[in-house]
Amino acid sequence: MEHPRIPENPYLLLTPGPLTTTPTVKAAMLQDWCTWDRDYNGIVQGIRERLVKLATTSAGYTCTLMQGSGTFSVESVIGTAIPENGTLLVLVNGAYGNRMVQIAGRLGIPVQVLDSGEVAPPDLSLLESILRSDTSVTHVAVVHCETTTGMLNPVETIGRLVKSMGRIYIVDAMSSFGGIPMDIHAMGADYLISSANKCIQGVPGFGFVIARRDEMERIGGQARSVSLDLHDQWKTMEDQSGKWRFTSPTHVVRAFAQALLELEEEGGVQKRWERYRENQTILVEGMEALGFRCLLPKSLQSPVITAFHNPENPEFHFHRFYEALKAKGFVIYPGKVTSKETFRMGNIGDIHRADILRLLEAVRDSMFWTGRP
Ligand SMILES: *Cc1c(COP(=O)(O)O)cnc(C)c1O
Repeated sequence: MEHPRIPENPYLLLTPGPLTTTPTVKAAMLQDWCTWDRDYNGIVQGIRERLVKLATTSAGYTCTLMQGSGTFSVESVIGTAIPENGTLLVLVNGAYGNRMVQIAGRLGIPVQVLDSGEVAPPDLSLLESILRSDTSVTHVAVVHCETTTGMLNPVETIGRLVKSMGRIYIVDAMSSFGGIPMDIHAMGADYLISSANKCIQGVPGFGFVIARRDEMERIGGQARSVSLDLHDQWKTMEDQSGKWRFTSPTHVVRAFAQALLELEEEGGVQKRWERYRENQTILVEGMEALGFRCLLPKSLQSPVITAFHNPENPEFHFHRFYEALKAKGFVIYPGKVTSKETFRMGNIGDIHRADILRLLEAVRDSMFWTGRP
């Protein structure tokens, strides 16, 4: 039987997820799988084991997959890990940190905020004094790569502090896991959260939580939601060899298994990180040569996504720039910083040096506000 050809993408996604996936990842979705069949559950177990191996070489960690976009996994952690008498402290420097605050607030979980503004890392001496003086704080959460700006937070340094003060540590590594080398044990994280459609380069549909096994065993009965009960989800996967509680995104899971294989074939996280760094370096050099300026200093910048200031020209309109680039085969990302006019370009996904070079030509030919093209 002949399969329909997978159509070419009309454009590359220069966005931090969903992102451009390989044709082979997309092709893996051309089969229907039974959600509770043994073959399928075996794929799920393989994914869980591989994710733990990607996260650490240390023992004592386990992985849970959760339906939905990445936020659903974040909400499942916050809503399940924090006991009734617990308090969450969130280190905020962007929209994704704020989202964790919003989740805790909506769930009625006491929450405190240490906000360092959108272009500065957290104040660690302030964090230390809060943890010293306020014993009501039981959990601390931070975003690793704050996708709002592309800022990389010092998760290992924060982790050492949080663990030395005996608190539970939650890291949203959504847009960095698989694309930047990290070790959950070295980081001191009790929970690390990411999703299928970011640096592992799968398609959207589920997220995952890698966590300390003893911590997972402790949090039963605490969830404020049925469908986002992290403990129940984990227990079912664990005790029933990869079974999801409710209908799982079977095609997405199968594509993710393929994406993990392709990560291995590329040479693992180290090699992928090198590719992303090269992409980002070429992108920034080229954009700066065209007159654009980065929002962040290089010392804070991740190799995942870059925020650029809008050109200071009254003739610049993001929407027109966006449409011009889209017509040339590239989709970029609007800004999310509240205090400054910016736009963003991601460089993760099946994106390579040659793509970035073509992108830079397209940008040069789309600078209508200069009157040149
Ligand atoms: C993408 C992302 C999320 C989750 O966003 P969804 O739209 O729910 O997938 C959470 N945190 C960070 C840092 C992200 O980049």
